[in-house]
Amino acid sequence: MDRFVYLDNSATTKISDRVLKAMMPWLTEHYGNPSSIYAIGRESRVAIEEARGKVAAAIGAKPAEIYFTGCGSESDNWAIKGAARRLGRQGKKHIITSVFEHHAVLHTCKALEREGFEVTYVPVDKLGFVNPADVEAAIRPDTAIVSIMYANNEIGTIQPIAEIGAICRAHKVLFHTDAVQAIGNVKIDVAAQNIDMLSLSGHKIHAPKGVGALYIRKGVMIDNFMDGGAQESGRRAGTENLASIVGLGEAITETYENFEEKVSRMTMLRNKLMDGLLQIPCTRLNGGRENRLCTNVNISFGGVEGEGLLLLLDMNGVAGSSGSACTSGSLDPSHVLLSIGLDHGIAHGSLRLSLGADTTEEEIDYTLSVVPKVVERLRAMSPVWQEWSDEERAGCNL
Ligand code: PLP
Repeated sequence: MDRFVYLDNSATTKISDRVLKAMMPWLTEHYGNPSSIYAIGRESRVAIEEARGKVAAAIGAKPAEIYFTGCGSESDNWAIKGAARRLGRQGKKHIITSVFEHHAVLHTCKALEREGFEVTYVPVDKLGFVNPADVEAAIRPDTAIVSIMYANNEIGTIQPIAEIGAICRAHKVLFHTDAVQAIGNVKIDVAAQNIDMLSLSGHKIHAPKGVGALYIRKGVMIDNFMDGGAQESGRRAGTENLASIVGLGEAITETYENFEEKVSRMTMLRNKLMDGLLQIPCTRLNGGRENRLCTNVNISFGGVEGEGLLLLLDMNGVAGSSGSACTSGSLDPSHVLLSIGLDHGIAHGSLRLSLGADTTEEEIDYTLSVVPKVVERLRAMSPVWQEWSDEERAGCNL
């Protein structure tokens, strides 16, 4: 195939040239264990501390508040389980989260329910936003932690994090946010936004897979997730993933350089893609237009089945997703799309296209030339579409 347009950057991104270059020495000649005291060990330690400083600087934290982890899922698990278990021993056995979190959060909460914790799942509105008042109303004297995602991975809605942070701080409840999709696309200031813990992941920002970080505000005490050696101030054991940590530090620096320019370019491309696809009859945009990640387009096509759409797009050289990559392989409709009120059939016919820092306008134009033809072809074969009335085909039910 001569064309390939990658529009699944919310699933993962390509490592940038600059990140790879920064990593290479730490995969080759500089192989010392960062815990060793001789020179090549000390060099590795310095490289890790430099990366820690870069991650901290990007989110307004202090370097000592950044803990490297294996991925965003680990960060989520550690933050929520670590806080719940510690505070649970003091009688705080209630957790608040939202219905449309990533499974790294939802399944963590389910696991804690099996350990005897009670979880309140606050709803989201039709545009995909949590109402801070719902969070406040759910807080109880025994609430240990609130965990609300910064930006949704499927529909790109950016949550009112500073407002929720202020509410949690006023009620003296810990506030964690999963910022895996937000990092690099949104300016974050953990201190100003009253965030106690924040999860991020390297592979969404052009760093490699298998590295993440958890910000834990100074003074916040949570249980260790991994016991063993003294790495990460004794809170997360295991010899560090040196080269990937260096890569994460470089990627987070790169992503916030020329930030405003990057976001405005990507917003322009996102709008072009979004508005172009919405020209196709019987479509709906999932998630609001305002407070939306500059990377995310999510559209439902009436009378179309998502799997078929992905396969035909793939045959035409366009890679997208019909839900989150983590759940593809399952035929259940996306819990995120159901949470904003879509019925099962419409949720099944949804397409997420996510831009990366390297997406070009020419790629958007190509995609806009392919999708309408693919949708038309699928509708011509779809028994559901054939049965619909003209009114339904006009998109009245979406
Ligand atoms: N949280 C969100 C919002 C995500 O989108 C993802 C991955 O898609 C994760 C957590 C998990 O991150 P990782 O793949 O690094 O475990």
